[in-house]
Amino acid sequence: MTYFFETYGCQMNTAESAALDLVLKERGWQAAENGETADLVLLNTCSVRETAEKRVLGRLAQYAALKKKRPFTLVVAGCMAQRLGEGLKERAGAVDYVMGTSSRSVFPLILEAVEQGKRELHLSGEKPVFAFSSSHLEEGRFRSFVPIMHGCNNFCSYCIVPYVRGREISRDPSSIKEEIRLLASRGVREITLLGQNVNTYRWEGEGGTLDFPGLLELAARETEGSPIEWIRFLSANPKDFSRRTIEVMAGNRVFCRHLHLCVQHGSNRMLRAMNRRYTRESYLDLAAEIRRAMPDVSLSTDILVGFPGETEADLEETLSLMEEVRFLYAYMYHYNPREGTAACDLPGRIPEAAKRERLARVIALQKRHTRELLENRIGMKENVLIEGISRKNADELITRTEKDEMVVVSGSPSLIGSFARVTLSSLRGNTFRSKEINLCLGD
Ligand code: SF4
Repeated sequence: MTYFFETYGCQMNTAESAALDLVLKERGWQAAENGETADLVLLNTCSVRETAEKRVLGRLAQYAALKKKRPFTLVVAGCMAQRLGEGLKERAGAVDYVMGTSSRSVFPLILEAVEQGKRELHLSGEKPVFAFSSSHLEEGRFRSFVPIMHGCNNFCSYCIVPYVRGREISRDPSSIKEEIRLLASRGVREITLLGQNVNTYRWEGEGGTLDFPGLLELAARETEGSPIEWIRFLSANPKDFSRRTIEVMAGNRVFCRHLHLCVQHGSNRMLRAMNRRYTRESYLDLAAEIRRAMPDVSLSTDILVGFPGETEADLEETLSLMEEVRFLYAYMYHYNPREGTAACDLPGRIPEAAKRERLARVIALQKRHTRELLENRIGMKENVLIEGISRKNADELITRTEKDEMVVVSGSPSLIGSFARVTLSSLRGNTFRSKEINLCLGD
């Protein structure tokens, strides 16, 4: 039997789709080229913005039309499935199974029913429990996400995640260790420890308590002498980012010198309204402390504009914070009300045109910073991980530095998955070009 996935949203969805893909492969299913020919189609969905859900409803309508021509099983997974539950079938009647973020454990039962040609699956009514998968490695990849947490307890007032992913659950460190060993045995070169808020990782076990810095040390020990030479983590929260985490990171070069540290806004008034629970000052102090410990670290962030009640003065605070930190890049977006979140009913909505105008100013400033920071790097030598063939030119390879900069270089596809030394010779857009490539020792 064959299957086809459409994965939307964040890295967590990408990791979870990879885990579901492995379940299918272990049962002998084959990946289909597209949804038009597959026996089972799964949409792993995102709810972070209304537009993301509308897009999925559009795809489901297309699959409904296809179902009139030939039978296949249609599964909706992820945050939208968790948010709407079985109610989703009222809006998309062609859907056979709705599998929320906390019920992926029923997937094998769904596959069994499909394999036996059963039209419906009768669950015994017990509430499926959330369980971490043992591997999240996408076939043929040498980089892998390693989820360490599920859910979020922070309830930022604009965010739907705590409602669709539930309370924070930290993964058993022995299961994380096993996955790292498995990935190393598969020749993986880079891992990303993944969670909505990795800094609050906490495992209480027989062996005592393990917090996030402790988990970083464990991961560093596990990767020593293995093909895994780079460790990243995502998403870090400034509110919980400890001095100990900085020390552990600074003390071991296996940790990539890049941090995505979401600030969202530069105004304390807005940070309070967003329930972010840190201040502009504490964020700037944290960024400065990180840079003192790791002067060559690159920082990126998320910025939200147009939150209800935001004034021109508030926006100026965001622009001035950006000037002070100078991020390598940022994900910038304007506020979208999400039903069920605390901010959804807040007064002082900003008109769409004003939101777009403010966003344009933030983007323009970030573009200038990115350009200036990258131009200052021209001529420097860096290690890169060779990730793949350039989409624009098949004779060129796409590589990435540990600072999360893209570098294009000519070379053979046989080098993909290797570490190499390059010179950041020139810049085209936000991508460096290197004239030469020298494989690193052992690669
Ligand atoms: S930390 Fe805030 S923005 Fe991030 S997932 Fe949790 S609630 Fe959402």
